Formats: sequence, C-alpha cells, structure tokens
Amino acid sequence: MSDRTPNTPNAGEDNVSSQHFIQQIISADLNSGKHQQVHTRFPPEPNGYLHIGHAKAICLSFGLAEEHQGLVNLRFDDTNPEKESQEYVDAIRRDVSWLGYTWNGGEHYTSDQFEKLFQFAVQLIESGKAYVDHQSAEDMGAQKGTPTSPGSNSPHRNRTIAENLALFQEMRAGVHPDGHCVLRAKIDMTHANMHMRDPIIYRIKRAHHQRTGDDWCIYPMYDFAHGQCDSLEGITHSLCTLEFEVHRPLYAWFIENLDIFPSRQIEFARLNLDHTIMSKRKLLRLVEEGHVDGWDDPRMPTISGLRRRGFTPESIRTFCERVGIAKRENVIDFSLLEWALRDHLNRTAPRAMAVLDPIKLTLVNYPEGQTESLTSENNPEDPDAGVRTLPFSGQLWMEREDFKLEANKKWFRLAPGKTVRLKSAFIVRYVDHVLDDSGQVSEVKVEYFPDSRSGSDTSGIKAKGTLHWVNVDTAIDAEVRLYDRLFSDPAPDGHEGKDFTDFINPNSLTIRPHCMLEPSLANADAENPIQFTRLGYFSLDQKRTEEIGRPAWNRSVTLKDGWKG
Ligand code: ATP
Ligand code: MG
Repeated sequence: MSDRTPNTPNAGEDNVSSQHFIQQIISADLNSGKHQQVHTRFPPEPNGYLHIGHAKAICLSFGLAEEHQGLVNLRFDDTNPEKESQEYVDAIRRDVSWLGYTWNGGEHYTSDQFEKLFQFAVQLIESGKAYVDHQSAEDMGAQKGTPTSPGSNSPHRNRTIAENLALFQEMRAGVHPDGHCVLRAKIDMTHANMHMRDPIIYRIKRAHHQRTGDDWCIYPMYDFAHGQCDSLEGITHSLCTLEFEVHRPLYAWFIENLDIFPSRQIEFARLNLDHTIMSKRKLLRLVEEGHVDGWDDPRMPTISGLRRRGFTPESIRTFCERVGIAKRENVIDFSLLEWALRDHLNRTAPRAMAVLDPIKLTLVNYPEGQTESLTSENNPEDPDAGVRTLPFSGQLWMEREDFKLEANKKWFRLAPGKTVRLKSAFIVRYVDHVLDDSGQVSEVKVEYFPDSRSGSDTSGIKAKGTLHWVNVDTAIDAEVRLYDRLFSDPAPDGHEGKDFTDFINPNSLTIRPHCMLEPSLANADAENPIQFTRLGYFSLDQKRTEEIGRPAWNRSVTLKDGWKG
C-alpha cells in the first residue's frame, strides 16, 4: 500500500539532519559545557487521562533525554487536590510506559516538596518579598488592573515581616477559614505583565490530598510550585507549551529571589488536532455526560482511547515526530494520525479475512460435505510473516456490498454474468441468487472452477476482481465497531455561543453486531492489530469482548486507498 504522507508542517524540510530549535539549544548547552547532562521532565497534573497532545510533550522530553543519554523525570503536579486522584496517576504511568518510555530520573510529586515550598515562601517573607493579603477576591481582582492599565497596591502590602510570618504560620496551622487570606509575592502592581502583579502564591483550602491526606490546609499555587520543582529536581531544560511563556518572568523572579538552580524553560506550540478537543476538562465532560464509553473510548483523543482503538506506540511516536516542534500554533489534520497508524500496520499487521455484512455464498458444484484447507500469506509486505491455513467449503459468507443485481462493465465484483476470484481460493461465476421476505439478497449461488486454485491456477479463466470470504462452519461470530470522527465540525471548540458537545457526530460509531471472522482470529490479542482484507486495520476490544461475552473488534483505521491484492 502506498498511501502518501499527508502534508505536514515540516514538509519540504529535511527533518533528519536539521534539528528543531530546542535540539539546537540543548546541543549548544552541552557543547559549551553549561551542562554535562540533559535532564528533562514531563509534569502532568493527575486530573485526567493523557491525550495525544501530551504524547507530543512526552515524546519531546523523553526523546531529548534519550537522544543525549540524559535523565527524564515523571512529575505529578499535584497541587490541586480536589480534582486529582490516584486513578489518574495510575493511568498516566501506564500510558507513558505504553508509549515506550521510562522515567530514569525517577517519579516525583510536587506534593513531596510541600514542606520545601512552604520554606521557600517563608524565605520570601523574610526578605520582604511576600505578604499576607486579607482582601476579598473581588477587591484583589479590581486592583489587578488590565493589560493596558496598571494595578494598584493592596492596603496590606506593607505589613511588617514579623506580622506576615505570624499570619502565614497561622494559615498553615488552620487558624483561618478557607479563602480568608492568601500569601502574595510582592513584585510590582504596575508591571506590564499581569502575572507579575503580586501573584497569589498560597491559598487556604481544606481539601483532602490523595498523598498528603489532611496534613495541609494551605496549598501552593501552580506558579509557585512548578518552577521550584524544576529547580529542586535539577531540571536543565524545562519544556512546556506556549501558554506558559508569559509565566516565565515570574519563574525567573522566583529563581532569582530564592537563589535556586536556574532551570531553563523553553516553550513550544501545543498540538491541536482538527475534529477533536484536547482539554482534560472537556474530555472529562464527554465522559461524565456519557457521550463516550469512558476515557478510553476508542473515539477519544486520549492515549488510552487510541490504544483501545488499535493505535500502536510506534505510530503515535511517528506522528509526534512528523508534527514537529515549533513556536507557531497550527492545527494538524486528524488524517495525519491515521496515516501514521496505517504506515506502521501496513508493514507489521498480519492479514486475515472477515465479512462485516454477511450474506451466504453457495458453491453449487462443490462436493457436498467436503472441506479443504487453503493457505494464505500472513503479510505480503513481510516475507517472514509466514502463511496460515484457511478452511474452505461450499458454504461461505461474502460481503453484501460485493453483490449487485444490476452492474455495469466497471463492476468487478459479483453480479449476474460476473466472474470473480475468492482471495487465496478459487474463481467463481454467478449462477443464481435468493431474495429474503423483504426483497433483500440473502444468498448468492455460484459455480466454482476446481482448477483455478490460487497458486496452481490452470483454468485460464480471467477474473478481474478479488473478494474476501469466510467459511461458514468455522466462522467466528463477532461484533465489529466502525468509527468516524467524534466531532462533525473541524473546530468544535471554536464557535461562539455554542458548546462543543453540540458538534458531536451522531454517526461516530456504527456497530455491526454479527460479523463473520476467519477462525485464525480466535487467537488474536488486543495489542496486535490485524488487517482485515479490503476493510482496514482492526483490533480486538478486550473491554467490550468481556462485556458481551464474544469477540468485539474495533476498526482502527481504514485502508483508504483501497484494495491492492
Ligand atoms: P489540558 O490543557 O489539555 O487540560 P494541561 O496542560 O492542563 O492539559 P498538564 O497535565 O498540565 O495538562 O500537561 C502536562 C504537560 O503536557 C504540560 O507540560 C503541557 O505543556 C503539555 N501539554 C498539554 N497539552 C498539550 C498539547 N496539546 N500539546 C503539547 N503539549 C501539551
Ligand atoms: Mg495545564
């Protein structure tokens, strides 16, 4: 199959020899001796499952560490206890491992640093660079100013160091109710960057934390935790998406004023995919509102969803490489992701036959009661893949859409007067057909040519089309699930006054309850997708199989450019 690579942002560039800008920075830092070893991290917040956007960030940070024999940390950024859970931690670990990466720098938790972060806050207070503010959120909001007008100082800004220290200790001790006061960095209320206008760094929140339990009733804000954790872990290159660019001056301010290891933050454009959404908050809504069958629904852009759909780690890594790393935001075609899977599976997936919409195909001249074994290659792209046997008899299943009552010259499948080859078997010629009570074709009768067997055909008969088929007696009855885009609009997120759920594609899932599969598929497992001849790449759905007590398969991706022998 020669499905062409869709255009990518890198098209035309030689991305084998040319380094992207982050690789260039890292090479320069190693060459200049600034760092002896690269140390990166991937810092998910355990408040949802990872999605394909995260895969890009994972491939980047893990990939760079790998490339330079460096270290990479997995860090759970768990500063928001109400939204986080162990289920998400476990899922994140599983997904990163499945992608093929190990966190050789260790597994870290921001919550492991809560004491250290508290001490950092005390350090700031002691140097007159943080203060406790008792104003309401509204008042603080009003003083914040706007991007074009400066903010104004809080009346509590000039508290003494001693007073601030005492109040902050009280916050920790649980003296004050939730929301009663906050700790703010004392920077500059007139700063052009809004993030520098005395940002809140600690808040009171009596929330049970999945790791620290009820030890704390104050939690650091993300901005006060993230950069410091980078420093504490000795991260040399802290890679994140562009929305954090405006936070960088604040991180730099903390590094300078706390005098800690200067990790370098570098931002890159996030991955956006058309026909999908990529925010954990919105993905959670799809799950909670029952639009999908959980985080791992095969239509979800989550790593676990893609995995259940039949995507391979290799295909996702190839996709991330193709998408490239740049500073400019863009939207990637979902079809690039499909291309990457097709490209991988075409080389690796064994072939098998399945009939999704079965009607009977009867060979009228095949000896009654006879069966035989035919052989078929497992993968024409891979000579080492070997062959398998296919049981064959006079009673077969064929695809409903491979038969037409009226057909023209360009129809190379079955119809009155037509002759076709059955894949890896014999040539057959139309004889008759049977209609059911509703007038639908329920059976096609053909005669077969015994001397036309594939591989030893001496019949001299020409058949232009080749059809797939399954032997009736040995067929496996399976459910097959066909997927389309989850959203019918390319940008479900981008319509004012509309909710993204308004654009859910009502036809994103088609269930074929009783499909017929060749018997070799009884040994299939969920991790190894199969090419169903002429139909696409399919993968066993373990979860659904257990649910219905018989095999269920997902179509991972279509063949797109059709049947090529
Ligand atoms: P979302 O916005 O989808 O809910 P998030 O940014 O809140 O995700 P985090 O857990 O904070 O999720 O993300 C962990 C890392 O993954 C961050 O460094 C973030 O920059 C990166 N990341 C998140 N989304 C994308 C994306 N679409 N493309 C590339 N990297 C991403
Ligand atoms: Mg985030």
